[in-house]
Amino acid sequence: MSQSDEDIQKLVESKSKWIYQKKYKLTQTKKLQDKTNLLYKGIKYPFKIIRSDEESVSFSKGVFLIKTKSFSQKKINELYQKWIKTKAQSIIEKRVKLGSKITKIPVKKIRVKDVRERWGSLSDDGSINVNLNLIKAPTEILDYVIIHELCHKKIPNHSQRYWNLLYKFVPDYETKIKWLEENEKSIL
Ligand SMILES: [Zn+2]
Repeated sequence: MSQSDEDIQKLVESKSKWIYQKKYKLTQTKKLQDKTNLLYKGIKYPFKIIRSDEESVSFSKGVFLIKTKSFSQKKINELYQKWIKTKAQSIIEKRVKLGSKITKIPVKKIRVKDVRERWGSLSDDGSINVNLNLIKAPTEILDYVIIHELCHKKIPNHSQRYWNLLYKFVPDYETKIKWLEENEKSIL
């Protein structure tokens, strides 16, 4: 590259950087200003955005590193959701296996679902369905939902007998229910 080529290159770079920063300011919605943290296992972590052709999210040393071509709120949410989805699959599978071991209630299949309307459910085929957004909540909350569903394998309704069974494994289940009610909006 000749000297002049290099100068042009620098100019283009600085200009594109400027355009980029300006665009960032323009597209910075109120929502983005509010959302300076991302939730993971009940803790809000800051995120850092880096402009890159390769789009990805990684989590290391308490910071989310988001690589993106665009700084839009939509794109950031999209990348974070994608990351959560992959992460949720492995975390939820591990927690269900642990819950199954603790309660001695066997599970055939685990399904991680991206739904808004429920935290967990059981399918007729014996599989347990868990809302993936629960990995944004503290692990004890995720465990509560898993054990709640596992107990339904023995008692399908919400009778006193059911709550007595659940109590054996999660004595403070009322606190967990309250937490879910109060934090529903921030994790869904
Ligand atoms: Zn239930």
